[in-house]
Amino acid sequence: MASNVLTAGAEAAEAANPYETAQRQFDQAAAILDLDPGLRQVLREVRREFTVNFPVRMDDGSIRVFTGYRVQHNLTRGPAKGGIRYHPQVSLDEVKALSMWMTWKCAVTNLPYGGAKGGVICDPTQLSLQELENLTRRYASEISLLIGPESDIPAPDVNTNQQTMAWIMDTISMEKGYSVPATVTGKPLSIGGSQGRPAATGRGVMVVTLEACRRMGLDPSQATVAIQGFGNVGSVSAELLHGQGFKVVAVSDVFGGIHNPDGLDVPALLEHQRTTGKVRGFAGAREEISNSALLELPVHILIPAALENQFTMHNAARVQAKLVVEAANGPTTPEADDIFHQRGVVVVPDILANAGGVTVSYFEWVQDLQSFFWEESEINQRLTRIMEQAYHQVDDLAQQHRTTLRMGAYCLAVKRVADATAVRGIYP
Ligand code: NAD
Repeated sequence: MASNVLTAGAEAAEAANPYETAQRQFDQAAAILDLDPGLRQVLREVRREFTVNFPVRMDDGSIRVFTGYRVQHNLTRGPAKGGIRYHPQVSLDEVKALSMWMTWKCAVTNLPYGGAKGGVICDPTQLSLQELENLTRRYASEISLLIGPESDIPAPDVNTNQQTMAWIMDTISMEKGYSVPATVTGKPLSIGGSQGRPAATGRGVMVVTLEACRRMGLDPSQATVAIQGFGNVGSVSAELLHGQGFKVVAVSDVFGGIHNPDGLDVPALLEHQRTTGKVRGFAGAREEISNSALLELPVHILIPAALENQFTMHNAARVQAKLVVEAANGPTTPEADDIFHQRGVVVVPDILANAGGVTVSYFEWVQDLQSFFWEESEINQRLTRIMEQAYHQVDDLAQQHRTTLRMGAYCLAVKRVADATAVRGIYP
């Protein structure tokens, strides 16, 4: 990891525990909604948290024990849904936060799901493909107590991808004795994946960015964009926004960033990243910049698409963008949120901005359950409709309550889950 990343990470670790952030956001929404105290208690905690310590055979024949988690925050509106992350900094509190955000994300878009998340503490860059497969299969087997098409459906997140999902689908299917494609989403097309799923989160980011620009009177052809993180979400967002006429002037990944105030040739950059594995070294860049410097560039739009806690009380006042679109989960601490609000920086919150991924995951699950597959144009049309509708509902609520888009999104989501919980009643 580049040293600037470690510094930013250390500052961030001091700044916020993601689960406390998630609970503070919920408390704020509960206050706006004047939510019943009993419901508040139910919804501000996760329902199930499962820790697994499991052995993996390494290439040199040794055995290493890894720790993983699967957390289900809520199952009231349907099966739990949420990705699986592989990262050295995965922690139970991070997974709990991510699972709670999944509940609200599914409710904002009105998908019939609750929220879950999984993670394994590991550094995938230090593991061979065989070791990654061994780790994934054993982790899948350990959490098979919880996952399945009717109960909890994983998907990719940071450092996991279609191949990871294929291994999980195969492991669960072998244990059942028959193929269960609807166990996970984000799979390869050849085993029941959906058209449009790899690009779905970035496409959703594009749709809400266009909506926000429309509201703010910002012309895409005049707007500059900086994107932190150039993985699945960041790179697709860059490609689609470039296609819409936005000028992408800076991008970064874990190794650092690049900047060209005249705009980057995104298709050429994607090719460079595919061949070298990083954005640095791209011939079309004017200068190299750090991840923290990228966040303070004089651009119209900032898109965090990496990890949590990137905007904190330490840097929020120096952000020059007028619009932040949270492609990543939890990039803004509550303190930074307040600073943005006071300074008039519009933030499209994660639970809305990156909901395109889970929306097409839902389409994939529906297609798998019916063994009937849709064309990409239909997927993209339905996705766009859901994202635009969610954006407008959130925006209306934010105006009605004279609050931020984040609280507008929370009000929409929390009310849907609270109403469902109230009408179901408390068992037994
Ligand atoms: P990914 O693993 O494909 O890409 C992550 C990117 O972030 C890489 O470019 C990596 O180099 C970079 N990165 C990692 N640590 C960094 C750091 N400290 N500073 C700067 N860059 C760093 O992951 P992804 O699937 O693109 O996920 C990115 C974010 O989007 C995460 O917050 C994830 O939870 C969220 N998200 C992903 C999806 C999805 O469908 N994949 C859906 C919703 C939300």
